[in-house]
Amino acid sequence: MKSKLKLLIIVTLMLLGLGVATIVNISLNFREYSLKSATEKATTTAAIVKDGLTAHMVNGIMDKRQYFLEQISSNNTDIKSLWLVRSPNVIKQFGPGFNSETIRDSLDKEVLKTGKTTKQIHETTDAITLRVSIPYKATAIGRPNCLNCHDVQRGDTLGVISMEFDITNMRNAGLITILKILGMNLVFIIVVLLLINHYITPYMHLFSNMQEGIQKAYSGDFTHKFTTTVQGDAKKIVEQLNTLFRKMQDTFGDIKYNLATFIPQGSVSSTDPLYEAKMIIKELSDIYKFKKTIELDLSKNAVYDRIIDVLRTKYNFTHFAFYEINTNNNSRKLIYISTGESICDLEVEEDAILCRAYRTKSDVISTEFVNLCQSCSSDDLDYICIPFDINDEYSLVISITTKESSEISKINSYIPSIKNYLEAAKPVIESRILTDKLRESSLKDGMTGLYNRRFLEEFIDTFMKQAQRSKESYSLLMLDVDFFKQVNDTYGHDVGDKVIVAIGEVLKENIRESDLAVRYGGEEFLVLLHNASDEGALMVAKKIHEAFAALIFDVGHSETIQKTMSIGIAKFPYNGDTIWKCIKLADTALYVAKTTGRNKIVEYTKEMSENKDLR
Ligand code: GH3
Ligand code: MG
Ligand code: MG
Repeated sequence: MKSKLKLLIIVTLMLLGLGVATIVNISLNFREYSLKSATEKATTTAAIVKDGLTAHMVNGIMDKRQYFLEQISSNNTDIKSLWLVRSPNVIKQFGPGFNSETIRDSLDKEVLKTGKTTKQIHETTDAITLRVSIPYKATAIGRPNCLNCHDVQRGDTLGVISMEFDITNMRNAGLITILKILGMNLVFIIVVLLLINHYITPYMHLFSNMQEGIQKAYSGDFTHKFTTTVQGDAKKIVEQLNTLFRKMQDTFGDIKYNLATFIPQGSVSSTDPLYEAKMIIKELSDIYKFKKTIELDLSKNAVYDRIIDVLRTKYNFTHFAFYEINTNNNSRKLIYISTGESICDLEVEEDAILCRAYRTKSDVISTEFVNLCQSCSSDDLDYICIPFDINDEYSLVISITTKESSEISKINSYIPSIKNYLEAAKPVIESRILTDKLRESSLKDGMTGLYNRRFLEEFIDTFMKQAQRSKESYSLLMLDVDFFKQVNDTYGHDVGDKVIVAIGEVLKENIRESDLAVRYGGEEFLVLLHNASDEGALMVAKKIHEAFAALIFDVGHSETIQKTMSIGIAKFPYNGDTIWKCIKLADTALYVAKTTGRNKIVEYTKEMSENKDLR
């Protein structure tokens, strides 16, 4: 509507300008014309006066001239006054004449002197007067010959005929004409404006309607219906716009619906379908890249690391913890924590049911209820805990914490998107769990549940390097049952197996978590004691030795047997610079134990390697 007003103002100003220019032009021309016609009238009157006076003179009735002049004045209302002025020559010859025939103003004087017609205009607000003085010159040609009576030269000025013309009427007539033109102009302007208004208004309505629709379209709303009362091309444009908008609305609806099948609704939401589609595609593309990446990761922990990276970099979480819950025994393991300690009570590690998120299988948002999770040990932090089931055996819980409760709603808005990532990672984690299990079974001895020799071969270098880096040590115990063959031979392999299983139990019971027990061969076992002192290692060896010797095996027929074992001990890195070397040395010590009577513990000494008899 602003543009309409602007247009009307511009048209009005243009028409007014045109009107003013016309009026100024007409006024100037009218004034010129008025003056010209008044001057012509004065000249004609002067000629009549001159001829009249000449006639008076010829007829000898010059004394009646005043009457003649009065008659002329009274018959012409425009003549305000009419008088004669005698020249000094005539005064000298015939006297001064009537009283009225004297010089009245400077114009009379000037015309007497110059002998030229002169005019002046006097203009006031009330009236406009034309003052004209015309010389009366002596002629010598034709009749009458002025020189016959006048004692003057030919061409001398005999007198002046002066007049005052009132041309106020002419001015007034001009003003009335101008006013009429002005009035007509105004009527014309109003008519033009009304016509413009009439024809422009529907277009203006169309423009503002289009503007409104396009404005809505900017924010993704294509529901606007364009309307117009204008026919022709404008109507066609409106119809095309309506078709285009309907198409856009339908297309975006379809895109949104189809995209929602890829990722759950709510993870990306906006009132603008175009923006929403863009964000969903971006999210899908990010998740696709994430999935492609984790598919090539080798272990479950590597995938966990990727999820943690996403939480740190995509959502910029600075305080969060990532837990894995083993649903078989409800134990919880902390996989990652950004800073500080877990906000959960310590008991949750042992009894994951205490974790509200895991127990209720729903997101726990601390701002929803005071002291919502009763296992939370922090008073000053707000938290959102997101549970996520991987399979029957494993669940995850992501716990995001913040000091600002205002941050919670922002974190909350990320939950659907985080779940998209977890959902994408789920099959890969499941597959890695399976692979890990298979792998573990190939690295473990089925009979005893201890690690097997393959495990040792695969990981011993890792242990060694770690030990070398952090200056740690390992005491290596090589164990072998004395006269085991006899058991097999006398009581059969089943009894032999029982003895081997029993050794596994004895070892598990007598070593710490940081230690490692390996079934090295048939009835040969290797124990790696982490950071044990010389006395400590010997003490563990003794405990194992005694515990095994104390075992009583039922061999059937109400018979029982007891067995002993021999143990060789070597120390890494004290005895050798690699663990493999030290294993060999422990074996040497075991050999010494065997060859020097069995059922004993022997610590490796250098001499054993030097003395051929002992090897
Ligand atoms: P020594 O005191 O010198 O060690 O005498 P030994 O009879 O124990 O001799 P050795 O250690 O060489 O005996 C190993 C025997 O262990 C040979 C093999 O039959 C038996 N054996 C190895 N693996 C198993 C197993 O899984 N089950 C059973 N029952 N016997 C096994
Ligand atoms: Mg043996
Ligand atoms: Mg043996």
